[in-house]
Amino acid sequence: MQELNKHEADITTHHKNPYEIVKNLIKESVSNLGMNENVYHILKKPMRVMEVSVPVRMDNGEFQNFTGFRSQHNDVLGPTKGGIRFHPSVTLDEVKALSIWMSMKSAILDIPFGGGKGGVIVDPNELNERELEELSRSYIRSITPIIGPQKDIPAPDVNTNPEVMGWMMDEFDKLRGYNIPGILTGKPLIIGGSQGRIAATGRGVVFTIREAAHYLNLDLTNATAAIQGFGNVGSMTAKFLHQMGVKIVAVTDAKGGIYDKNGLDIPKLLDFVSKGNVASDFSEADSIENEEMFALPVDILIPAAIENQVTKETAPKIQARILAEAANGPTTPEGDAILEEKEIFIIPDILCNAGGVTVSYFEWVQNAMNYYWKEDEVNNQLEERMVEGFNRVLEIQKQKKSRMRDAAYTTAIKHLVQAFHARGWVK
Ligand code: GLU
Repeated sequence: MQELNKHEADITTHHKNPYEIVKNLIKESVSNLGMNENVYHILKKPMRVMEVSVPVRMDNGEFQNFTGFRSQHNDVLGPTKGGIRFHPSVTLDEVKALSIWMSMKSAILDIPFGGGKGGVIVDPNELNERELEELSRSYIRSITPIIGPQKDIPAPDVNTNPEVMGWMMDEFDKLRGYNIPGILTGKPLIIGGSQGRIAATGRGVVFTIREAAHYLNLDLTNATAAIQGFGNVGSMTAKFLHQMGVKIVAVTDAKGGIYDKNGLDIPKLLDFVSKGNVASDFSEADSIENEEMFALPVDILIPAAIENQVTKETAPKIQARILAEAANGPTTPEGDAILEEKEIFIIPDILCNAGGVTVSYFEWVQNAMNYYWKEDEVNNQLEERMVEGFNRVLEIQKQKKSRMRDAAYTTAIKHLVQAFHARGWVK
């Protein structure tokens, strides 16, 4: 048996296992709300989980059989929905947790979807383009029996993008024998994608930061920010924050980081990255380590990478007023307790990054109508949903004098429970 790598070993320990973390958060919310404990028993387990083998013929003639998963958490509000990630540290528990978080996001934003998520244990950097296409097609073939536009609708996530969605849709369509654009979202525009989908998560993150800044009386035109991760979400967040006048002083990625106390030249950096470079190679800035970035005296800190980054080691160093969780599950429970002591305002992941699934919903609606919206329409409706979601959570936070994270879970669970009652799942 292969040895666990350090990251896998870390996340299988209880306090960093995202599935254990999210179950605890749900348990606490259900009990704080004095709800029937069956609510917890329904929500703690995905309704369906599938492990699949993902065979790929590699270019060197070797055959490799990758492992993939799909988790469908709960469909009380509608078909399950959520991305597919390609990453070497994917685990079944991680995918289960991510599917639960998807249910929570849709519930907070009043989107008629349940939560789903998929993943393949693979380092996509080790595959060439043809192998990556074969992996994408192979994975979607494996999960074909359990997906469909009214059942479960995949989308991009870490290391997957519109191109991958195009291959996956094509494979599904071939199996069914006709075009089914609503099978997944985040597709290229030409085959049924939505305007605004690529930028949606980052745009949504920035709407929540704007609302939080307004609530905290923080003037964004005088504010500074640091971003961990410069993939789709991190880079789009940087773009829109910069447009709002925020000075972004640091950005880190998997390979390193860059720093300029006077603010990075974000348009130049975006251009540099769009040419296939990594942000940390940008030469017009000093370099910075990930750990140092957490300690910077910025107003807004934005983890936009993967889970378990704000920990008992990094949280004590944080000086920011706002932690905007653009990633899913970036904060461990120990990290969270430290943030609470330090009275840092958290925009929790299940609210902060829900802009992606929101525009995915718009894409799915457009596919069903076979009628496509202009970008302004998409962006305006996204803004409306994000602001409503933020205010819903903030209201509960004020009413219950709780933290934003607890308020977000309360908002989501209350919404889901209404649907449980309506279907007679809980009396
Ligand atoms: N992967 C994104 C997320 O974690 C988007 C999911 C979707 O659009 O369905 O929210």
